[in-house]
Amino acid sequence: MAKPKVAFYWCASCGGCEEAVVDLAEDILKVVEAVDIAFWPVALDIKKKDVEGMEDKSIGVSFINGAIRLSEQEEMVKLLRRKSGLIVAFGSCAHLGGIPGLANLYEVNQIFERAYFTSPSTHNPEKILPSQETDVPEGKLTLPRFLDRAYALDQVIDVDYYLPGCSVPADLIMNAVKAILEGKLPPKGTVLSPNKSLCDTCKRNETKPEKLKIKKIYRPYEIEIDPEKCFLDQGLICLGPATRGGCGERCIEANMPCRGCFGPTDQVEDQGAKFLSAFASIIDSNDEKEIQKIIDTIADPVGTFYRFSLSKSILKGKI
Ligand code: SF4
Ligand code: SF4
Ligand code: SF4
Repeated sequence: MAKPKVAFYWCASCGGCEEAVVDLAEDILKVVEAVDIAFWPVALDIKKKDVEGMEDKSIGVSFINGAIRLSEQEEMVKLLRRKSGLIVAFGSCAHLGGIPGLANLYEVNQIFERAYFTSPSTHNPEKILPSQETDVPEGKLTLPRFLDRAYALDQVIDVDYYLPGCSVPADLIMNAVKAILEGKLPPKGTVLSPNKSLCDTCKRNETKPEKLKIKKIYRPYEIEIDPEKCFLDQGLICLGPATRGGCGERCIEANMPCRGCFGPTDQVEDQGAKFLSAFASIIDSNDEKEIQKIIDTIADPVGTFYRFSLSKSILKGKI
């Protein structure tokens, strides 16, 4: 029997999710044995025109990582949608817009201004910006268009499943591959990780007081963190109450608070708003000025509460 065809594609991302595939270590051999890799630009020399030549739906599943920021990415994911039976949004950037989604706080011209003129490592006295079309003696060179925003994958194409995480843990990848190969997939639209909050499985939950109270917020470098105690009880922002479990509490095991990369559970529409409502109830003051003072100590509220989910939030970006 022919092996199912699988594709991997990389959009606006750091490359960590491609690394996650390599992190399967010897398990990657099991994957390669079980499937035919039809398209994987980072590892195999297969061109867009080869994908265009494939029959529609002939790729069993495409794993797509990264947010959609360029017209080229939009075009490629639409092509892969046509050619694939299943599309899996792979990692936080594809699932929720991820870190690239934080750029939605700025207009395109502000992003270009920073990237090409004012960043400390830039030397561009002639103020040259990338041009979508450049005439050269050989003809016309073209660059993809920078989209107005960074989009999560399902804001551009229909997505069948989501693998959360920055990056996706190896066991979740293997479970998903196994479920796909055995045809034992849950309903379309499922995030392939437990639908429970991280606090439910966190060892430190036992130390979380019945009624949490915060008088001051610290950043991790400002205090010596007790490795046994709930971070929130130490005045550190931990997004565990608003984040889906299933990562094996990776950050918490390393004595760092959760930053929310698994996104919300199915019951929550907006991860940042969910955390904010929980957070508001634990601020230990009824005095407006004191509350403001406590809130003012949060260095970067959007980056803290919506680090991975701004593209998919109710706000979506700058309003
Ligand atoms: S989810 Fe994280 S590891 Fe994956 S591409 Fe985005 S930033 Fe990189
Ligand atoms: S808030 Fe963080 S440290 Fe506390 S129980 Fe939840 S996940 Fe664990
Ligand atoms: S602890 Fe939070 S930020 Fe860290 S991997 Fe798990 S979900 Fe992501």
